[in-house]
Amino acid sequence: TSVPSFVFDSAIPRVVFGAGSLRHLEREIDLLGARRALVLCTREQRASAEAVQAIIGDRCAGIFDRAVMHVPIETAREARALAKELQADCAIAIGGGSTTGLGKAIALESALPILAIPTTYAGSEMTPIYGITENGLKKTGRDARVLPKTVIYDPELTLSLPAKLSVTSGINAIAHAAEGLYAQDVNPITSLLAEEGIRALAQGLPRIVAEPGDVAARADALYGAWLCGAVLGSVGMSLHHKLCHTLGGSYNLPHAETHTIVLPHALAYNAAAAPEAMSRIARALGAQDAALGMYTLARSLGAPVALKDIGMPEEELDRCADIASRNAYWNPRPIELPAIRNLLDDAWRGRPPT
Ligand code: NAD
Repeated sequence: TSVPSFVFDSAIPRVVFGAGSLRHLEREIDLLGARRALVLCTREQRASAEAVQAIIGDRCAGIFDRAVMHVPIETAREARALAKELQADCAIAIGGGSTTGLGKAIALESALPILAIPTTYAGSEMTPIYGITENGLKKTGRDARVLPKTVIYDPELTLSLPAKLSVTSGINAIAHAAEGLYAQDVNPITSLLAEEGIRALAQGLPRIVAEPGDVAARADALYGAWLCGAVLGSVGMSLHHKLCHTLGGSYNLPHAETHTIVLPHALAYNAAAAPEAMSRIARALGAQDAALGMYTLARSLGAPVALKDIGMPEEELDRCADIASRNAYWNPRPIELPAIRNLLDDAWRGRPPT
């Protein structure tokens, strides 16, 4: 077989990877030509921001420790104002997707360069996608300005991520790669990244559950998260992300857990329409079947497998199926409302994917 026609269009930031790589932070700020960094974090991760401050000394202009889920516009405005007031010339986002998201909201208006230090596997640091919530509505968009300039991946910073969160966060990452393998704009390069990313996470996560302090396992998972994030940033997503966006946005379900529960079912829905993607996913998981392999992996790692267990009301499934079937978007298999409703029923009950 010959190589198909494709377009490859990806802007992957500079990456510094490795245990202890946080020590290169000053060098990386210098390379950005910056001297006054505003450090962003959640309240829970204030100590991590202070550790950054201790490393960079004078180069720290201040800390903003109020990053929260979904980037409320009010928070974004406060952080933007503080960056201006402190005359910050870069922002350092240390944390998960919520903190990176706040950095992106600042960069969207000011073009301030972002240096991201991810501490989960969400992968936002690899994408030009931002989300801001105003009046309860989360608006997402793409803008090259929000893509971080530099990313420091230090597996040691993920040691404190509890095993349970590590698992769901890691499967959230796998979801980016899995959908990337059957994207409309799929290309051979991102498919390589996707398969390798899934493999690294599938190998790392069980070892993290067995021993959360295993730095080598943490490195494998973070490496996988990087690759999966790069896929998310490079090609389009389909049914799975649409469903999770609907569930998360309308019912305020926890982000990573929602992804974990829905993924096997979205894969089963698309299986017959995307056989090559499925065989690559299965191969990366070391499983016979992609959808069942994902379900089994999640179960074996103690992750939730039922939407009913994370607060999804059963009487809302009709409406959710409806929303997720509206606004035509590309998916390898056409969106059929009754089948989507069945999918949601399986996911709600926690049945194996069919
Ligand atoms: P999160 O950033 O909301 O973090 C969850 C909690 O875990 C927070 O309290 C945080 O402080 C804590 N935490 C993070 N790292 C920790 C660590 N190492 N040790 C201990 N505690 C830690 O969760 P997330 O799953 O990383 O991000 C989810 C958000 O990111 C969602 O809003 C999602 O929409 C967004 N996201 C965006 C993109 C994108 O491309 N724009 C991609 C993925 C996710």
